Amino acid sequence: MLAAKKELILKELAEGTGAAVSAEVDLSGLRSGLRIWFSDLDQKHGPVAELRTYGLKGHRVTLTFGSFSGTVLSQILAASPEDVQLAQALVASIRPEADVQIPGQNMPEWHVMNGAFRMVATVRNQEHPLNDSSVIATCRDVIVPIMAAMAELIGYDVIEDRQGEEAPACEGAVLQSVVIRRERNPRNRLLCIRIHGEKCFACGAEPRMTYGDAGSIIEVHHLEPVALLMEPRPYDPRTDLVPLCPNCHRAVHTRRPVPFTMADLKAILGTSYA
Ligand SMILES: [Zn+2]
Ligand SMILES: [Zn+2]
Repeated sequence: MLAAKKELILKELAEGTGAAVSAEVDLSGLRSGLRIWFSDLDQKHGPVAELRTYGLKGHRVTLTFGSFSGTVLSQILAASPEDVQLAQALVASIRPEADVQIPGQNMPEWHVMNGAFRMVATVRNQEHPLNDSSVIATCRDVIVPIMAAMAELIGYDVIEDRQGEEAPACEGAVLQSVVIRRERNPRNRLLCIRIHGEKCFACGAEPRMTYGDAGSIIEVHHLEPVALLMEPRPYDPRTDLVPLCPNCHRAVHTRRPVPFTMADLKAILGTSYA
């Protein structure tokens, strides 16, 4: 039953949020709820998403904060405008049928102001809301982006080794490191996949089709070479990031500091893929 699918749900949550996530499901069934939270914060010290059945044919996902979330709330209040923009874009990527509401606020420009914050998503018209496949679909479509938005606001850091980078000595290098950080942010990757799918923008390859479950290896490429712009235009994660397969992504970055453009790469590949 659902308990057996918990690993799958947790894997998708960890990939999408870049954080360790815990889940608890009552074996007696979904009516008692599936609860999901960040492992390092536990259910009292951070946001908790709860999925329950709603009516006969629906799911309701409610995100609330535990009673001792003061520390995490102050981290969220200190989130940068870019983090807030990405968090809002992640929630906005949820399909409109899964009606997302934040009591007292207007979408899509919501903010977490205090511990009374609640986000409620209602998914209606499901044939079998108690089936594992329906629950997994709601987790993927609704809970993963909501928890990724929270992870972005909290600021889970996922920057690993900075391979081959010189220390940012000038403004250009600092901006270059911003681009690298954006490309490695799992929440950006999640948003990019939700908007564009997992097909490489340059060659059209779709690694998941070739490698199955092992094939979630598509990467995120930042289109605007910010480092070299005299006046960088405002960044928008919805339009400035594209999915590239690992080979194409390597190839575009062989030109430095300004990577090849998508048009350059397509010309090199000699493909007609558009
Ligand atoms: Zn490719
Ligand atoms: Zn790139």
